[in-house]
Amino acid sequence: MAIDLLTPVAGPLPQLQCETDTGIDTVPLDQEVAFGSWQRAIPEAYWHLGAEELVARVRAARATLGERVVVLGHHYQREDIIQFADERGDSFMLAQYAASRPQSQYIVFCGVHFMAEAADILRAPHQTVILPNIEAGCSMADMASDPDVRSVWRELGEHFGGTGDIIPVTYMNSAASLKAFCGEHGGIVCTSSNAAKVLAWAFERGRRVFFFPDQHLGRNTAHAMGIPLEEMALWNWRQPAGRRGGLDAAALDRARVILWQGHCSVHQRFSLTQIEAARARYPGVRIVVHPECRFEVVQAADANGSTNFIADYVAKAPADAPIGVGTEINLVSRLAKEHPDRTVFCLDPVVCPCSTMYRVHPAYLVWVMESLVRGEVVNRIAVPDDVKQHARVALERMLTLR
Ligand code: SF4
Repeated sequence: MAIDLLTPVAGPLPQLQCETDTGIDTVPLDQEVAFGSWQRAIPEAYWHLGAEELVARVRAARATLGERVVVLGHHYQREDIIQFADERGDSFMLAQYAASRPQSQYIVFCGVHFMAEAADILRAPHQTVILPNIEAGCSMADMASDPDVRSVWRELGEHFGGTGDIIPVTYMNSAASLKAFCGEHGGIVCTSSNAAKVLAWAFERGRRVFFFPDQHLGRNTAHAMGIPLEEMALWNWRQPAGRRGGLDAAALDRARVILWQGHCSVHQRFSLTQIEAARARYPGVRIVVHPECRFEVVQAADANGSTNFIADYVAKAPADAPIGVGTEINLVSRLAKEHPDRTVFCLDPVVCPCSTMYRVHPAYLVWVMESLVRGEVVNRIAVPDDVKQHARVALERMLTLR
């Protein structure tokens, strides 16, 4: 149920404001409205299982597989998945964790496609990475394809008379091929927790940074480092080749940061109006948002940072201060439950979960785990060796900064 932000309240605040506040009930896969557009190539026997049986069968498969399997859960996964996670965290932390568990031959990554790819790049040779639902992608990562990025790179080279002074930086939330592109072209990967360090590294090596796919993380980070907005240019990759991404030559010449016009469909929903409404209604409220939010939202917040930063911020905030959070609802909901002594609410009264993260339904987890029990690997994520080799270079450059 959505709660309006305009009506004054007396007494305790509602903890959250979304119909997903109390978690999403597990329904059989065939009753999920979006199942038709998810991975259908799962045996029909798994389509109709109810919540109790799903839980019992995941537990049974886990008990049989023991240490041979590790289940990872990204912060944005639904509760009926996160309950089975051996470790939860952000994408990079989980990939590193899996690589540090040599006893686990199978890494079941409950997250989205680029995360499983990162785990496959960093895994030990004897490990295998599995994504429960192969259709769990990321709309932001999909906004930057390998051919599009290479085409823009060529155009930048034509405009500037070469790319020797441009450092490509890709956000972790991108395809493995783009991490490889950065590895091949003197570039690097960043996460939302180390983006400032990564940009500083890049500016020691080049005059300009080409940042993809999330414009907001790039802009927010560069601005916090003192780069004015006039020295950032937004490249519209939907423009035909030869149109400089819709930019005029002077704007491009001025740019120290060339931002890809990509965004996260979840974080871009947060608005200044929501923050103003929360502040008007709850004096003393603290606002913390993810840096994938729009510039004006990050500017108006009290703090911004990665998912781990947000979790830490909530844990350390004074108990009497309500906290408005701008990130994916599953994490906000979990933080509210973990801190029943304080009021934690989502800034967006009608926010929905990340629709691609949500595609990891427990039926897929049962299917991939029971397949492993039978000695069969389904939904393996395997990054080609040449891509892996270059992507590792870009990831290792980032690792030296930590
Ligand atoms: S929350 Fe945004 S960036 Fe993260 S997986 Fe979903 S669409 Fe992609």
